[in-house]
Amino acid sequence: MIDKFLETIKKVLQERLKEIKKQLEEIASKSQRNQKGYDAKFPNYGRSDDENAEEVAAFEDSLSLEKNLESSLEEVELALSNISKGKYGVCETCGQKIKKKRLEILPTARDCMSCKN
Ligand SMILES: [Zn+2]
Repeated sequence: MIDKFLETIKKVLQERLKEIKKQLEEIASKSQRNQKGYDAKFPNYGRSDDENAEEVAAFEDSLSLEKNLESSLEEVELALSNISKGKYGVCETCGQKIKKKRLEILPTARDCMSCKN
């Protein structure tokens, strides 16, 4: 039995998951090394020194963006798996329920306000 609140959170998270994956696929491809991971793509602008320098700069941007996206993806996936296990919304630190208000603002929150502070 899943309540209305969780239903809404789940939708928000699933939308976010889609969005993150879309962004990841633009700048990265699925990693060969680990199934869940992504590797940033190396851009190809051309062969001149200028173009090569731009490629390196763009690649560095992609790398850090890819890292951020990947960790957001993990958080969203964790929250979704917690929903399906019925463990969503419980503070990892003190085991208390996290306030709905906090979860509405930050659906991937893993700790309650008092533990966060
Ligand atoms: Zn707590």
